[in-house]
Formats: sequence, structure tokens, C-alpha cells
Amino acid sequence: MNKIWILGAGQLGAMLKHAAQPLNIEVRPVETDETATFDIAANDIISVEREHWPVTPATEQLTQHSSFLNGPALAELADRASQKKLLDRLGLATAPWVDVKQGHSAEQLFAELGERVLLKQRSGGYDGKGQHWLKLSGSAEQRAIPQDWLDHCIAEQAIAFDEEVSLIGMRHANGDTAFYPLAINQHHEGILLATVSPVASKASLQGQAENMLGKLMDSLDYVGVMTMECFQVGDKLLINEIAPRVHNSGHWTQAGSSLSQFEAHIRAVADLPLVQPLVKTQSVMLNLIGVEYNQQWLSVPGVEVFWYGKEVRAGRKVGHINISIAERSQLLASLAQLEPLMTPVYADAIAWLIKHLD
Ligand code: ATP
Ligand code: MG
Ligand code: MG
Repeated sequence: MNKIWILGAGQLGAMLKHAAQPLNIEVRPVETDETATFDIAANDIISVEREHWPVTPATEQLTQHSSFLNGPALAELADRASQKKLLDRLGLATAPWVDVKQGHSAEQLFAELGERVLLKQRSGGYDGKGQHWLKLSGSAEQRAIPQDWLDHCIAEQAIAFDEEVSLIGMRHANGDTAFYPLAINQHHEGILLATVSPVASKASLQGQAENMLGKLMDSLDYVGVMTMECFQVGDKLLINEIAPRVHNSGHWTQAGSSLSQFEAHIRAVADLPLVQPLVKTQSVMLNLIGVEYNQQWLSVPGVEVFWYGKEVRAGRKVGHINISIAERSQLLASLAQLEPLMTPVYADAIAWLIKHLD
């Protein structure tokens, strides 16, 4: 193997590149609007950091190349309707859903799915964008399907979940798989804000989760890291969505595991040895959303800052902080020292993290 090309050049591509460097592997993230003609060697590998992309000269060069990995799997998962159909076919539990077509009315969806229904655009959505709640007892806007969403969205039943959890797994070309422990995730305004992993109280769900994601990766003959976001309802998991890539809820593995999810993906696609990732200790991750960089974060023991170098905008992920400290009193002291260095919304997030420490 010569080089790994990554479709997409956001923070995930940057962290894949960063993880590959000590392995002496060159990773080349590609912006979708690049105009160059790429010199892709026959033994290069082409993978992705995102599941949606525009058709451009750059993305066409990568996705049409014979070295492009997981092409059919990515196409099937990128459309929420075909993703849900696949999960149904495999008997993997998801939120009850309807493929919304011309002629569908909100009344039909309420009758079939209940009083609260979430419309999700079939492709392109992230961070809760491209979603629209319908409520039987709501305003006029909440009781109608937007006209231009017909044929372009699915409708899901509102799930009263106990917690949101995610599982990150890896699969190599020979079919071997390995998994990280489940993470629990806290969202704020549709965007992931905080993650804790592992969590002792979720260990009883680990086998169920691994069976689900393993079955899915096998059925797609998938190679690389894949993420399964789930709703936990009692002792059952329902799949919310699948991300065929490294994932924000796995960033803790940079600090808390012998193998980061980024290196795991590189190893899988480059056919390097698969190992079970070892977990060092319980870790927490906080996303930096719409906040300015603060050098004082670096004064907190145990804080590991990843700043993405993006323009700061409200609601935009611009970095994350990992903390992986085995000594409980030191972890609590570091969280206490960090809190006044953050905006008020993080007080709730830090309280949530502390509540979920083992
Ligand atoms: P991501 O940034 O994770 O890719 P996304 O825009 O693709 O997000 P989803 O993960 O499908 O969107 O939904 C975002 C959040 O909305 C979920 O994490 C969950 O909190 C909530 N949500 C989604 N579907 C449902 C549902 N059926 N019932 C209740 N809440 C839901
Ligand atoms: Mg998504
Ligand atoms: Mg999601």
C-alpha cells in the first residue's frame, strides 16, 4: 500500500491523518471542491470521513476508482430510507418508520406512528439539521408535512428513550471484528455535547449491541470503522442511525484506549493487524460548540484539547476535550477547574458527566 485517500477534509480526516503518521502511513484528506487531477496509484486505498458528498470532479475521481472501499455499502446507508429497509431486512430493531411519499398526510403519519413524529430528510442531515417535528396537538406548522419534503424524508415514531448510547466497531477484510465498549451520549439542541465511556451500567447491553453491529457489518462485507447510534429503552436497543465512519462519540478513544478509533480505521482499511482495543480507564469527552479557543483549558490537569482550526460560529463543532483520569478525586477536581472556563451550558454537561461516572 502506498497512500490512503480520504474523501472529505474536515476534522475527522485530519485526525485520521494524525493517527496514521506514527505508523508511517500517508493519509491524504481531499476537499470535495478540489480541482486537481489526483495521481492515485493502483495499490492506494480510498476511504471516507463523511457519508454524504456532492458530485464534484474530486469526489467523482475518488468514488469511481477501483480502490474506493465500501462503495455499495456507503450508498445503501447514505439514504435513510434504504438504511432503514436494510435494518428491517436484517431484523435489527429501529424506531417504527414510514417512507414519506407524495400523497402522504400528517394525519396518516399520526395514525400510523403516534402523536409525535419526527421527519428526517433522507440524506444530507447532521447535528439534527434536516429534521422537523410533527405534533398532533401542535401548531399548524407542526401538523403538516412541508410540501418539498414529500419523497425526500422518512417519518419516525418519537421514542421515549432512557438514554442514547453508541457502539463503535471495526471490521477487517477477512471478516474479523472488534468493538469498543458502549458510550453514552448527551445532546444539546440536536448536537452531541458530551460522551462517557465505558459505563458499568451499560455492560449488560454490550453483547446485544455487538451482535447488531456485527451482523450489519457482515451483511455489507464492510471494511473499516462503523458506528451505531442507539436508543436504549429498558434492556432493549433500537438503532437510531448508522454512520459508516469514525464518529464523534468515539473521540474518547484517543485518550482512553490503547487504540484510537482513527488508528483502528487505518488498520482495518490498510489490512494491518486487528487487535482488541484495551481500555485504560473511564473517559469523558466534551464537544467545543460555538466557543472561542481558551488557552486556560490547558492549565487543567488531564485535559486534552483538540482544536479543529475552523471559523467559530454558533452551533458549530470547533473542537473537543478528552479527559481520561483513573483517579476519581483528580477527575472531579479537573472537571471543577474546567467548568468556570466554559460557557454556562457546560455546567449542565459537566453535571451530567459526573452523574454517569462509575
Ligand atoms: P448526527 O449529528 O448524529 O449525524 P443527525 O442529524 O443525523 O445527527 P439523528 O441522529 O437521526 O440526526 O437525530 C439527532 C438526535 O435527535 C438524536 O441523537 C436524538 O436525540 C433525537 N432523535 C432522533 N430520532 C429520534 C426519535 N425517533 N425519537 C426521539 N428522538 C429522536
Ligand atoms: Mg447522522
Ligand atoms: Mg445521530
